[in-house]
Amino acid sequence: MKLSILVMGAHPDDIEIGVGGMVAKLAKQGHQITTCVLTDDPGGNAEQRRSEAVDAAQQLGVPGDQVLFGGFVDGQLDVNSHSVGALRQLLRDRDINPDIVITHSNADSHNDHRAAFNLALSAFREKVVLSYGIVNHLLVSDFAPHVFFDTTEFQEQKTAALKAHKSQDDLGRILWQRIDEYDEKNGRYVAGQYAEALQISAIQYGSDNILRQLDAINENRFNTLWSYLLDDDSLSVIYGEPAFRRNRSHNWPTGKDRDGVQQLRGAFRSNRTYPPHIEEVRATETAVETVLESSHILLGSGPVSNAVTRHYFNHFRGLRYVIDYDMPDFQRIRILDKVAGNYIFAEYDKTPRSMGLIADVGILTIMHNPLNPSKRLVGCMGIHGFGTFACYNILSGSEHLSPVVDAITRANDQGFDGVQFLVHVDARTGVAHIVDEETHMFHSTLAQDAES
Ligand SMILES: [Zn+2]
Repeated sequence: MKLSILVMGAHPDDIEIGVGGMVAKLAKQGHQITTCVLTDDPGGNAEQRRSEAVDAAQQLGVPGDQVLFGGFVDGQLDVNSHSVGALRQLLRDRDINPDIVITHSNADSHNDHRAAFNLALSAFREKVVLSYGIVNHLLVSDFAPHVFFDTTEFQEQKTAALKAHKSQDDLGRILWQRIDEYDEKNGRYVAGQYAEALQISAIQYGSDNILRQLDAINENRFNTLWSYLLDDDSLSVIYGEPAFRRNRSHNWPTGKDRDGVQQLRGAFRSNRTYPPHIEEVRATETAVETVLESSHILLGSGPVSNAVTRHYFNHFRGLRYVIDYDMPDFQRIRILDKVAGNYIFAEYDKTPRSMGLIADVGILTIMHNPLNPSKRLVGCMGIHGFGTFACYNILSGSEHLSPVVDAITRANDQGFDGVQFLVHVDARTGVAHIVDEETHMFHSTLAQDAES
């Protein structure tokens, strides 16, 4: 479905600086875009700046007659019954009733920008209000974007649109380098190099139907991954019991599996307007077998504490990495690399029986559920809880999510059934990394080996 989107800027060049690439992208996708420049320059060149704004919009694929002007005074934008009424009238005259309103963030040091934000909240009902930052005024401490658009292919159009604001460019007011750096920084959250970021600032009552469509166009990698994995279904997390191992003492916390679930829940709340239902099931519950065959599954933790990992996952064909379970209690828990035929261990400060853990390794697996191929199975399994948590952390949207999503996309394109990653994590800092060469794409997981 095509959306009607109103993009508002306090000043003639704000829209292009903040979301020029996004406007070009959404216009190209066929959404109905209207832009609205709220104030005029009182310095005598209002007409020139209006005409520059029209040129700029056209560079982005927005027809000139879809560019509206509020006619308020630069520097003095106020939110009161007059300005709210005038904005409503302007839109009514043009028969524009947008689904989504995009405007400045309140996390901005410019009074007109904050006023534009408040004006949007006051003038509309039943809308989703998204907000963007203007680099030179953004208060990053208060800006929490979760909607991202990959604008890599639209940077040229954005540049052309910014150049259309010739009066400003000649005065050196277009901060080219900062804009470029900011867009590149946001690029970490999408597939491409550049992105523009928006915060969901307000979900007004009655806008529920718009929210799902917003999830559908949001290119944030977290959203991309989970839309692909769940497709709106719920997720069942099968978690293990912390393993208390005989004759051992250690100083690292147990229960990091559950911390990981909490982190993932938080990521869903902040990234998606429609978080999926997440059901938590203990691996030892009898209901677990039904859940396994009927739901998308996340298996938290390895076979030592998670019986489902032990009885099922470790026997699926095609896997390269499993936490080795063929061990008496006193042995080191380790990862078996079935392809290389060797073991991978965590790192300890002295011996494995002493207190300190230096580095852990987790196995992150994303595959079709062999017990029901229409469902997904995700595995977060560390040698210790740190590795498990590091896997959850990636799935919750850390900077490492991009290579993971890329690999899943490649695996899917090539017809593989799943991908495994080794996640190496520094137990003291929590910093994790993935080694490309260790990533494993696999086929043929629809049968199990004999059960042990
Ligand atoms: Zn401005």
